[in-house]
Amino acid sequence: MTFSESLLNQLAANLQQVRQRMHAACLRSGRPSDAVRLVAVTKTAQVEWIRAFLQVAGSGPEPVIDLGENRPQQLASRSRELPPSIRWHLIGHLQRNKVDLAVAHCSLVHSVDSERLLQALNAEAAKAQRRLPILLEVNVSGETQKHGFSPAELEARFESLVQNPHLDLQGLMTMAPFADDPELARPTFRGLRELRDRLVSRGIPGVHLPHLSMGMSGDFEAAIEEGATLVRVGSALWDRIPPSA
Ligand SMILES: *Cc1c(COP(=O)(O)O)cnc(C)c1O
Repeated sequence: MTFSESLLNQLAANLQQVRQRMHAACLRSGRPSDAVRLVAVTKTAQVEWIRAFLQVAGSGPEPVIDLGENRPQQLASRSRELPPSIRWHLIGHLQRNKVDLAVAHCSLVHSVDSERLLQALNAEAAKAQRRLPILLEVNVSGETQKHGFSPAELEARFESLVQNPHLDLQGLMTMAPFADDPELARPTFRGLRELRDRLVSRGIPGVHLPHLSMGMSGDFEAAIEEGATLVRVGSALWDRIPPSA
């Protein structure tokens, strides 16, 4: 497959800029740059852009093979169409009647937002004889339109939420309130890290919660400074794509 020079150049420039912003945030916060992984959110990208992106991003010292989608059907169809080496991340709301798609295609489900969904995923993963890596989505900011466990609910129910043998609970995910100023997102990110630390300090065997999925195009530097290990970046990667592409 050949892509236009202008498409490849723009994708490479966008990726380089995101990488530089990530590195700078790691430096500022004294974290090694391999402590934070880029999940490239492809929900608004055409499949041909993704193929071109994989060509520019898939080689070199830090290949990007983590792609995120917010709709399970689109994730499943793209997973069938694109190379099997891609690790697919589901980052949007999952309905219980689509857990089969998540179990079949996802490397990590970020958006597990209810106890009933946990149980449905556990049952489906058992059927598929797989242990599915997941994060619990937390509504730290308390906005009514957001999905996710409230911090209080998570703290109250945590011991029972971790009793799902076919799920591998790897951490927490949150979305900050939409705002132009990334500093307004920082308390949400800090709140998620502090919640994680409190849950880990309970010392439940096997429960380590190493991952914090937080930060998007507009605010991922603040998220990295507050401890993000996975940043979900979409629009900054697909910016200024030439119209012919
Ligand atoms: C779309 C989306 C992102 C990426 O947002 P950008 O602002 O495009 O970087 C991250 N997380 C979730 C849950 C999303 O739906």
